[in-house]
Amino acid sequence: MTIITVDELQEIRKLAASVANDIYAPIAEHLDVTRTPISVEQRRELGELGFLGIAHEEQYGGSASPFSHALAVIEEFAKVCRPAAFQIFESNTGPAQVIARLGTPEQRERWLPDIISGARTMAVAISEPDAGSAATDMKTTARQSDSGVVVNGTKRWISNGGEADLYLVYARLSDAPGSKGIGAVVVEKGTPGLSFGVSERLMGFRGIPSADVILDDVVVPNENVVVPAGDFKKLFGVFSVERLGNATMSLALGQAALDKSVAYAQNRKAFGKEIIEFQTIQTMIADMLLEVEAARLLIDRAAATADGGIPNPLYVSLAKCTANEMAKRVTDLAIQVHGGNGYTEEYGLERLHRDSHGWAIAGGTPAMQRTRIVSELTGRRFDQRR
Ligand SMILES: Cc1cc2nc3c(=O)[nH]c(=O)nc-3n(C[C@H](O)[C@H](O)[C@H](O)COP(=O)(O)OP(=O)(O)OC[C@H]3O[C@@H](n4cnc5c(N)ncnc54)[C@H](O)[C@@H]3O)c2cc1C
Repeated sequence: MTIITVDELQEIRKLAASVANDIYAPIAEHLDVTRTPISVEQRRELGELGFLGIAHEEQYGGSASPFSHALAVIEEFAKVCRPAAFQIFESNTGPAQVIARLGTPEQRERWLPDIISGARTMAVAISEPDAGSAATDMKTTARQSDSGVVVNGTKRWISNGGEADLYLVYARLSDAPGSKGIGAVVVEKGTPGLSFGVSERLMGFRGIPSADVILDDVVVPNENVVVPAGDFKKLFGVFSVERLGNATMSLALGQAALDKSVAYAQNRKAFGKEIIEFQTIQTMIADMLLEVEAARLLIDRAAATADGGIPNPLYVSLAKCTANEMAKRVTDLAIQVHGGNGYTEEYGLERLHRDSHGWAIAGGTPAMQRTRIVSELTGRRFDQRR
């Protein structure tokens, strides 16, 4: 049994913070303004540093470290540069975890080493124009025959759409109704019939491309089916891992806004004294800290259940809902603490606030998390269609 100490967690957090601050903080504003993702070379460097394989097995190039280590690294990068953090999020907590946990040994061997080295990336394609919160309304089909799987449909809001090399496409693999017919299949970029819509002009998430993924009679080998129809429950169970990564992105936004505000309030003077001396500012900062710490503890608790298995879904939804809403409020308060400077692009607070809204929608809105929370709490299922 490997014993992981708190020191090791601190060490990896420190290393991540130093790389993030030295290399990515200086380019973060430029990536946002120009809506440019980090380069393939930079992504490979993240792979070389081991950041893309923290929560993956050693045989595929990962370090088999606890999940909490991956989240700590995501947080340090996300505090200063979300486009870089996104790559670490995607490989450690995103669709690659579906391959790692539900894929066959051959599929893991085929795709994971490239993802962990940064040579290739994988995006997840669930949402459709008429199926967002109601994901099980999806219409995309993946029909198996002796000559392969034929995939047809349109996926919407796909982060890294057009940029990623591999797409984990959720689709109907059988005619069974609702979730029963849904499984997942990998489609590689370059496969005939796969194309992308225009890059969306989102309020935030700039430097993380988003586009429709259009599948028009795309044929992939049968060996690309990762999850067959009937295993949707397992597929959505692993999605809890992605939700924890999402919650950590929000945590980072809140922590960064808080750190900037604490520093600013002790520096900026009004009426002849530092604004931290004013009780209203103290209340705002205390509220920010209360909310950030509550989100952090909920994420830590959920993460403790994630190693190897499926994280506790109640803990994950509590963490995601709290962290998403915390980030929106805390970044908003930070803008207020900074006065006019908070409203400029230069201070980076509006960027934190814009991104906080995106993370709250992605991965299931707080409204949907609340339904999940009560469902997990009571053991009841709430049919949203009747
Ligand atoms: C920045 C960003 C990144 C994303 N990345 C990806 C990605 O990589 N891959 C992917 O597949 N998708 C992605 N998405 C899509 C995302 O998962 C959906 O946008 C989200 O699930 C909401 O779906 P919708 O936009 O269709 O909104 P709708 O489902 O139309 O919801 C609209 C509003 O109604 C509320 N609502 C809906 N149903 C209920 C209900 N039953 N009870 C209470 N309230 C309800 C919602 O909470 C919301 O406030 C991303 C979205 C964003 C904004």
